[in-house]
Amino acid sequence: MRLAQEVQRASLAELDAPCARGAASLARGTGLKTMKCPCGSLQNYSECCGVYHSGKKLAPTAEALMRSRYSAFAKNQMQYLRDTTDPQTLDTIDEEANQEWADRAKFLKLEILHSEEKGTKGVVEFKAHYSVDDEEYTHHEVSTFRKSHGEWFFKSGKVKAEKNK
Ligand SMILES: [Zn+2]
Repeated sequence: MRLAQEVQRASLAELDAPCARGAASLARGTGLKTMKCPCGSLQNYSECCGVYHSGKKLAPTAEALMRSRYSAFAKNQMQYLRDTTDPQTLDTIDEEANQEWADRAKFLKLEILHSEEKGTKGVVEFKAHYSVDDEEYTHHEVSTFRKSHGEWFFKSGKVKAEKNK
């Protein structure tokens, strides 16, 4: 991911703003104080990916895991990302870059293009829309997942990243 230079330009003040703004406008507009889940399910976070992040439940499908991992980036749940990555894959992950991404990017939308499961294998193609310093990007990836003892893990990702411009 070519984020290092882009993200450095984003100030922390800016990054904190969208959540606060979003929450405030949501509360004003609808009287709701709960936040919708970043994964785009239209459910409240605490009833959607929050259930997996808190460890109350395991993501039942590869797609659910994928969605919860996107939300984990948005919610800065880095431990969850580690916990749901295949231990063998974990060695190849640049966690610092992931952390930086989570810190600096605004996570705009997740689009699931395709998902399928066969036994203990799952494949999910998605586009993660995000912005850094007011520039929008799309991270297009085909991820593979593996189920082990009833638990889904992220195994590998083939990135098809492109810049929206
Ligand atoms: Zn969710």
